[in-house]
Amino acid sequence: MTSKGTKKKPLQNQPKSVFFRAMPELPDLEVIKENLRKKILGFEVKGVHFLKKSSGKPSPEVIQEGLIGEKLVLVDRRGKFLKFGFKKGSLLLAHLMLEGQLEIKSSGEAPEKGTCAVIDFKEGNGLHFIDPRGWTKLFFYPAGKSGEPEELANLGPEPLSPEFTPEYFREGLRKLRGTLKMALMEQEFISGIGNAYSDEILFKAKISPLKPAKDLTEREKDLLFKCIKETLLWGIEETKTRMGEEVRGEIREFLQVHRKEGQACPRCGTKIQRIEVEGRGTYFCPRCQR
Ligand SMILES: [Zn+2]
Repeated sequence: MTSKGTKKKPLQNQPKSVFFRAMPELPDLEVIKENLRKKILGFEVKGVHFLKKSSGKPSPEVIQEGLIGEKLVLVDRRGKFLKFGFKKGSLLLAHLMLEGQLEIKSSGEAPEKGTCAVIDFKEGNGLHFIDPRGWTKLFFYPAGKSGEPEELANLGPEPLSPEFTPEYFREGLRKLRGTLKMALMEQEFISGIGNAYSDEILFKAKISPLKPAKDLTEREKDLLFKCIKETLLWGIEETKTRMGEEVRGEIREFLQVHRKEGQACPRCGTKIQRIEVEGRGTYFCPRCQR
């Protein structure tokens, strides 16, 4: 992540479990999804408030009209989107972008600084979308609209699903131009992996992030395929342990190389390096990942 002169202000009410703000990826969103299910599934929408008008697509008014009185019957994830499905068939997609976070607060509790939108439930609490950058987006699809939402239509397979096969992966890499770092983050190729977990996957596989995707040997492709699944499953478990019942924040302190510049590689002790790959801060061990 490049921070081009944007100063980060300290946030109010920041729970202790949050170590820093980053784009949530598959493991974070999997845990958030499970926790949201426990907290708000089955609840009825009482009110929808947009503190940042541009967060609601097609418009805050359409979303308010479509959701009030509706019952939340599905909380799911696809790629880096959270999906909220309602009883009469409407759908709300949320993309938290670079720094968005969720929080469940009691009804009547004032939204904190940086809140974009709040969905209040009849049962006495509300789902808050908080994003100091204001980039979080909520896309609403009314009941009866056929076909897959356009935001999801071009996403590649879920890396932990049966659709993501070694054959698909090998073939895809062969066609991709550019570095492996970028290939792993290409949402149309594989969905849900971002800057943090691409670093971790390549570290586990002991492959350089700068290696061209198409140059991988068959053995390396199979190893990388295995490392994708293992790293994401590990990320989910570690996140779950640390996050508990919370729905807020990305927990990354357990990662091995991502944002660990200058620290010792857990495998060989060499200092972890940070480089930029197409503008993305990339962390790796120069000795293990040649
Ligand atoms: Zn190393």
